[in-house]
Order: sequence, then C-alpha cells, then structure tokens
Amino acid sequence: MEGAKENPADELLELVRSLKAQIQFDIDAGKTQAYVCMKAEPADGDKSAADKSRVKGRMPSRKALTLGDVKKELGDCHGCSLGRVRTNIVFGEGNPKAEIVFVGEAPGGDEDIQGRPFVGRAGQLLTRIIAAMGLKRADVYICNILKCRPPGNRNPKPEEIAACEPILIRQLEAINPRVICALGTFAAHTLLKTDVPITILRGKFHAYHGIQLMPTYHPAYLLRNPGAKKQVWDDVQKIMKLLSGQIAQ
Ligand code: URA
Repeated sequence: MEGAKENPADELLELVRSLKAQIQFDIDAGKTQAYVCMKAEPADGDKSAADKSRVKGRMPSRKALTLGDVKKELGDCHGCSLGRVRTNIVFGEGNPKAEIVFVGEAPGGDEDIQGRPFVGRAGQLLTRIIAAMGLKRADVYICNILKCRPPGNRNPKPEEIAACEPILIRQLEAINPRVICALGTFAAHTLLKTDVPITILRGKFHAYHGIQLMPTYHPAYLLRNPGAKKQVWDDVQKIMKLLSGQIAQ
C-alpha cells in the first residue's frame, strides 16, 4: 500500500508521537473540553508565568519554549526513514521572534546539502517575494513541513508528515508569529487539515490555532507557472496589510 510503513510498530509510534503533540497543542490553545480527563497545567507548575505569556490572537506558549529547545528535541532525528537518506536536517532559519513564518513542503537537493531552507531556485524566488514585501529573510522565519529531503524530491508521505509535524508545531509555538504563510498544497493541507485544493484555499486567511494563516502557491509552482505570480503578490499584499493593521486581525 502506498505510504504504509514496513514496520507497524514504527508506524504506531509515529502516530502516537503526532497525536501527543496535537493534544498538548490543543490544551495549550485552551481547547480542553475534548480532553476533560487531562489537566492543562504547565509542565513546571508555574501557571501564572504561562498565563502571562499568552497574547491574544497568537499561539499560546505553555512555557518559554525556544527554537533551541525544539532543535535539541529534534536532535539527530530518525523518526522516519528519511533520516537514513538525508545529508543534513533542514530545521529552519530566520528571526526567532518573526511576525511571519513561511512554511514550505520539504528540503530539495540544495537545501539538503546546505542544511538551510529555500536556498535553491525556488528559494531565490521566495527571497525576492520577501524583498517585495519590504522585508529581509532575516526578518522572517522560513521552514518546512518535513525537515529531511525526500529522495528525488518526491512528495512527502503521510507517515513522514505525521513524524515531522510535532516539530513544526513546536517551532510555531516557540515563534508565536502573527501570520503563517503556507507555501503550496502540502503546507496548506497539513496545517489546515483539509484536502480542499490550494486554488480554493489561497487568497483568504484561515484560522490556525489563533494565528492567521494565508495559503498561497509554492515558489516552485511559480517557476513553472509564472502567470500565477500575480495571485501570490495579491496574497502577500493581504499579509502586509494585516501586519500593518489595515486589515483587522
Ligand atoms: N521547496 C520547499 O518546499 N522547501 C525548501 O526548503 C526548498 C524547496
């Protein structure tokens, strides 16, 4: 079966890991109703400090989680089979306090070699899009759904997404951005838990745990379909308006 793991125990472990992160995420976001038997206490018991760190409209943080903590947690990850074939983990890079996070699909060949996200041709186009927004790469944060390159740049498999998503969730918790820009189908579908086509999703803000999420086309798609640049420009202009307060958050 396409996407099935060879070892059912590994598959179960990945699912449990993903579910655990999702439950903790929901609890942090105040959605405790669905988990009435669990207590939404901060791990260190310092509830007032955790409460103080909550900012309306942005992702709540259960404690002062840093990107460094998340990177440490990821370590030399072998949570799925991509760990055996990657050259480098591509964790993500940019401003740890960014107001906007760009989430792509997975590292390609250039990213795998350099250990940095979006440094190939699609990355250069993303850098130009960011510049057109009046920002530098260092102002924003850039990462991917998968942290390791799928061989031959094939599509991510469901079990790879399930294994890697908890790390992305942690990154977003640590950064707590105002806006997430989901680049392409895989990022939008993974974050929004939908399979509605990107053509329908793009151009509108969607709610992601209290954060505004704008799906748009992936830069690699734009390289093949330059005519779609206009739509991406429209989408990022909406993001800029939201960040500048011209659109209510
Ligand atoms: N495509 C992606 O989705 N991410 C990268 O980092 C590079 C290309």
